[in-house]
Amino acid sequence: MKAKKISQLLIGTNNKGKLREIKALLPKKIKIYSTSDYNLKSPKENGKTFKENSLIKARFFSKKTNHICMSDDSGLEINLLNNQPGIYSARWGGKKNNFDLAIKKVFKKLDKKVSNWRNRKINAKFICALTIYWPSGKYKTTIGQILGRISSKKIGNKGFGYDPIFIPRRSKKTFGQISPKKKYKIDHRYKAFQKIKKFL
Ligand code: IMP
Repeated sequence: MKAKKISQLLIGTNNKGKLREIKALLPKKIKIYSTSDYNLKSPKENGKTFKENSLIKARFFSKKTNHICMSDDSGLEINLLNNQPGIYSARWGGKKNNFDLAIKKVFKKLDKKVSNWRNRKINAKFICALTIYWPSGKYKTTIGQILGRISSKKIGNKGFGYDPIFIPRRSKKTFGQISPKKKYKIDHRYKAFQKIKKFL
């Protein structure tokens, strides 16, 4: 039997950058709700993987609102830092989500590891787990990733989070310099979305 098409969907995130991007990926005919329509705070992300945390969020927001919910959990993994910040990407920005602080922390950790890291290629990737959770308890999760490297300095102000220090493969520009329209067509969230969209 063919799955029933979704006509309404809650985007389960309190991150404005992600909300904007997920909205842009969704078909226009779906009526979209956001967590601010319900004044909802995010749950504690105590999972051990991106997959677990995206499920925690999607389940939480779906249970609170009785809507079908799509949530992501994403972050930056830097090879030289043993894949840090990983699932702690948001937490490195502190309580106020200060990404100047988070980026300073990345540079400080790299400095500590190898003093001349700015002359080397520092491989990294963005990962996104995307979950759709139905009020019935059914759910689907997919993963997307984009490979790249860390810029020797912060450049560009078009994106959010770690965008100003991430240079995707085959590019000379950081995500902070690339227009959102272009970024949304190549990044980790887009790739996870391509795999999950058949369930919409
Ligand atoms: P969480 O999924 O809410 O735990 O937050 C993930 C964190 O990873 C965000 O707050 C950002 O700092 C970072 N992040 C995830 N995706 C992106 C992206 O596309 N660009 C820049 N930073 C990102």
